[in-house]
Amino acid sequence: MDTEEADAKFFQNHGRLFEDFSLVYPVVSRRAGGLSVGINLSPDQFCPFRCVYCQVQRQERASVADELPTSSPQTPCLDSSKIPPLNAAPSETASVSQSAYSSPFNKRYVDLDRLEQELMTLSQWIVEHRFWQMPPFDQVTQVHQRWNDFALSGDGEPTASPCFSEAVKRIVKVRQHFGLTDVKIILITSSTCLHLPQVQEGLELLREHGGEIWAKLDAGTPEYYHEMNRSRVPFERILENIQTVSQRFPVVIQTLLVNHGGDGQGKPMSGAEVEAYRECLKGLLVAGGHIRYVQLHTIARSPAESDVSAVSHEFMEHVADRVRRHTGLRGVVYR
Ligand code: SF4
Repeated sequence: MDTEEADAKFFQNHGRLFEDFSLVYPVVSRRAGGLSVGINLSPDQFCPFRCVYCQVQRQERASVADELPTSSPQTPCLDSSKIPPLNAAPSETASVSQSAYSSPFNKRYVDLDRLEQELMTLSQWIVEHRFWQMPPFDQVTQVHQRWNDFALSGDGEPTASPCFSEAVKRIVKVRQHFGLTDVKIILITSSTCLHLPQVQEGLELLREHGGEIWAKLDAGTPEYYHEMNRSRVPFERILENIQTVSQRFPVVIQTLLVNHGGDGQGKPMSGAEVEAYRECLKGLLVAGGHIRYVQLHTIARSPAESDVSAVSHEFMEHVADRVRRHTGLRGVVYR
């Protein structure tokens, strides 16, 4: 059995549960080629997308897309530990603006001190190699016992969190504390919020520290985008955001290909859609965007909808080839 086969169970299980942590979770990932320390800034599972293949089990799927932030939040990001409980006496709340409670962003605050503490603890365990002696990670093959990244990902859209920029600061602080210059910081994003003012500080910090942005692009036309990602955010906004950010920041495009619809038979992206998709990529390059490469994935775990299934490896290679020929971009296929 090779190392890919031996570690397949880890690649297929990206669970969020680890010790008594609530915001930080370790996963062994195929695309990372090792350990990725995930950071979940979406305890309420908020995401402006509702992808047909999503593996996050949401309670309020119908309502979350209505809450997409369109401007800066009313209040700066606060440590949740500094926000008094809602039933606190008035004197306890005097130092905190009342708008902090009326803001729709409130339920999205994460406890930044807790985040930092969890990052510190897990980093310490990994650096001391204790982590690799803890079940089930003691079963990971030697070749994948390498720490690749901190990944802002989780159960929703990280940049929709009012704490995004502050969270990036905490990650940078921990990374510097342990001298982890080889461990990248990766933002995995739907690109829905990259234009928002409150996100810019975090993006700039990422750029300063050699971070990467992995931007999702699953379609070439608005119609297929709405079929796959089921969002109220216009497709043009997604393309514009990727374009703007890629003009000052090298971006990796992440595309998930699935069979879907087709009267229950499940069809892959059509030939015309593949052409439109690669045309979008070309458009980003022509506009001065810096695209490092294109990741092509399919599902490895149970999707949101039952009429979704994995595409073949050959189909992903076909799309990678079309992208390469038309744009010169490298398409990397993940099984
Ligand atoms: S962007 Fe990610 S978290 Fe959001 S619905 Fe799609 S797969 Fe799920």
